[in-house]
Amino acid sequence: VSADLKNAHAPNLATLGEFGLIDRLSARCRAAYPPRVRCGIGDDCAVIALPHSDEVLLYTTDLLVERVHFLRDGITPRQLGHKALAVNLSDIAAMGGTPREALVSLAIPPGIALAFLDELWAGLMDLADHHHTSVVGGDTTSSKVDLVLSLTLTGVALANRVLLRSGALVGDTIFVSGPIGESGAGLDALLGGKAADWPALVRRHLEPQPHLGVGQWLGQSGLAHAMIDVSDGMAQDLGHICEQSGVGARLFADALPLSPELVRYARAAGRDPADFALFGGEDYVLLCTGAAELGPRAAAAGHTLVAIGEVTASGFCLRGPDGDVPLRQAGFDHLRGAPA
Ligand SMILES: [Mg+2]
Repeated sequence: VSADLKNAHAPNLATLGEFGLIDRLSARCRAAYPPRVRCGIGDDCAVIALPHSDEVLLYTTDLLVERVHFLRDGITPRQLGHKALAVNLSDIAAMGGTPREALVSLAIPPGIALAFLDELWAGLMDLADHHHTSVVGGDTTSSKVDLVLSLTLTGVALANRVLLRSGALVGDTIFVSGPIGESGAGLDALLGGKAADWPALVRRHLEPQPHLGVGQWLGQSGLAHAMIDVSDGMAQDLGHICEQSGVGARLFADALPLSPELVRYARAAGRDPADFALFGGEDYVLLCTGAAELGPRAAAAGHTLVAIGEVTASGFCLRGPDGDVPLRQAGFDHLRGAPA
């Protein structure tokens, strides 16, 4: 076998993809976790047991890189500050947790106006205040070209109520906590230069609202079994629950909560609205599995939970007018790019 042929089969970043890389890097970490690490790499947050406490500590972190996650002229600085914290708050929500403290780091390129940073900070701090989250540290540095924000957020949850991706049970109902696909359609409008025509969709993409209230309610209900927030795309995020729980799923096409605005946009763009809902991502609603009675109980408590499917023993499909169709687990992969 020639060296060239060998190299053709050697793993590289593009063939591994983002999730393959995470598996490769985390193998050594997982092997060395002490018992206090109740959940390490691979969930929305790490879950750490505290001595003599019925609460667990939650950790999450997210990186926002200019030209990868946002364009400086495609988002207002206030929206950027809001979104940077919102996506981390959403990961705390996905555990049924309550946010506590944030660390914020900034890499600032030349040419950024002080007024831009003031606005960014105002957007971040307004959302932090709203959710009683304190910024207690971070780091600042210069950058050669791009603006980079890194946030780390801690939270707490009751140890016996924290919701992992791995808890789904066969027979569970699958729920989402709000409409899906609007953010993906908003991004599509932004990239297509049609942002001015679709302000509500674009706002859903640029100003996501973390679903902390319903997340905490789900944790306390004792009736939910697994949860994740919809960041990479509904199909891919549900795929994570299925993989980690060792189960399958069937979604019902006519149950997907598609907003009238999304349906209008999809029609105008000649696209299927369900494509945005299943593969669009960045909705930051919660996707959970649990007892069917969660739906009516949530409604009675003033929360929205829409039943969209059921957990099965195996398989991954969408039931539409033509019966069950296999569902792609595609979504965004940072090292492979958008799904084909
Ligand atoms: Mg998440």
